[in-house]
Amino acid sequence: MSYTSDSLEQMRARAVAGYKATRQLFRGLKKQKAQQLDKFFHAEHQKEFHHIDCLECANCCKSISPAMYTTDVRRMAASLKMKMQDFIDAYLLLDEDEEYVFKTSPCPFLGEDNYCAIYPSRPRACREYPHTDRKRMYQILDLTARNTKVCPAVFNIAERLKSGGGL
Ligand code: SF4
Ligand code: SF4
Repeated sequence: MSYTSDSLEQMRARAVAGYKATRQLFRGLKKQKAQQLDKFFHAEHQKEFHHIDCLECANCCKSISPAMYTTDVRRMAASLKMKMQDFIDAYLLLDEDEEYVFKTSPCPFLGEDNYCAIYPSRPRACREYPHTDRKRMYQILDLTARNTKVCPAVFNIAERLKSGGGL
């Protein structure tokens, strides 16, 4: 499945229009047993990433920044043979939660071909995005609702839930 900037913009517009309903629906999922919720999301995650190729999308890298920990920053700086402080000065700032984020969007390491220039050293949050295969999904339902505005996989999962599919 290939995504154009137009198709991603259309998805975002639909996600924004339906966001209130999505958030309510996802908050309602907190009543589900944790294991059942994880099982549902993990199956949906597999289904989505069976047909989505992130290299045909890269919308997360283009539109949001991962939050980064010191270990992430140290690893990225080392991979570029830079001093950590030089790396911070060049690429990062602290957001309102005092977490490091990239200064610029799209990500400075995203190539024209959607490849990540620091892929083996990328931040943990990049490796785990969109987090729909992690344990204890009940802890990140608000974040997952927000991610319907960014990630086609999460958008599709929410749409299926809204139309009665799943749990
Ligand atoms: S994780 Fe989601 S938003 Fe990021 S590239 Fe893959 S499909 Fe696109
Ligand atoms: S570090 Fe790599 S994976 Fe993470 S946002 Fe930048 S380009 Fe994407």
